[in-house]
Amino acid sequence: MSLTLYPLGVGDAFAGKHYSTALALEAEGRWLLIDCPHPIRKMMLESAAPIDVADLDGVVLTHLHGDHVSGLEGLAFFDHFIVKRRTVLATHPRVAADLWDRHYAATMADIIAADGTRQPPRGFADYFDHRPLTPKAPVQIGPFTIECRPTRHHIYTTAVRISAGGRSVAYSADTAYDPALIDWLDAADRVVHEVNYGGAHTPYEKLVALPQRLKDKLWLVQYSDLFDPESSEIEALREGRVYPIEAVG
Ligand SMILES: [Zn+2]
Repeated sequence: MSLTLYPLGVGDAFAGKHYSTALALEAEGRWLLIDCPHPIRKMMLESAAPIDVADLDGVVLTHLHGDHVSGLEGLAFFDHFIVKRRTVLATHPRVAADLWDRHYAATMADIIAADGTRQPPRGFADYFDHRPLTPKAPVQIGPFTIECRPTRHHIYTTAVRISAGGRSVAYSADTAYDPALIDWLDAADRVVHEVNYGGAHTPYEKLVALPQRLKDKLWLVQYSDLFDPESSEIEALREGRVYPIEAVG
């Protein structure tokens, strides 16, 4: 029994040094993807344990900013046309509604056949097996139990806590500094927390002011090109490395 984290990307929306933040989790040989920026297949294939779309049990989507979702259209088309299955998508119903109605209805509904004839319009359920993620009840995907909580961000966003293999890891997603959210994340063995400039994100200065016990538990992601992971007082995750989830302290 174990739970292992593979950071596929650790950067922010403007990153030139890193891929945008995305995480893969492995338990019992099963895989869960958390957020899905472009180029997600390349990111998965370059990780310390290379995986592809067909290896995933599901995708957890925290919110609709492009640096978290820009790879999902391609992944869902890959599932639809190549793997020939629906993408299991764990996300809040508000996120799912906007994902289709205000975005993918324009890019994924219309399909033409090889002879050029127009096919009946496809809908959200043709591509996605939606597992509604709400604060009311956890969602189960394979060995992974997923809980969520809203964060403070420009658009509707949820943080997640994920348990599997006897361990748990939490991910803040994008959020302004929010002590109540950190308390909620703290229930997990390890906490992946965003760090960025402030505003709708969490400044480094707020995180380094936390008690040492919490800082020992945190791993940072969503950092800008100007952030130096080598000199960070709190460990910053690195792409291509392997992080077994273990209790701290
Ligand atoms: Zn965001």
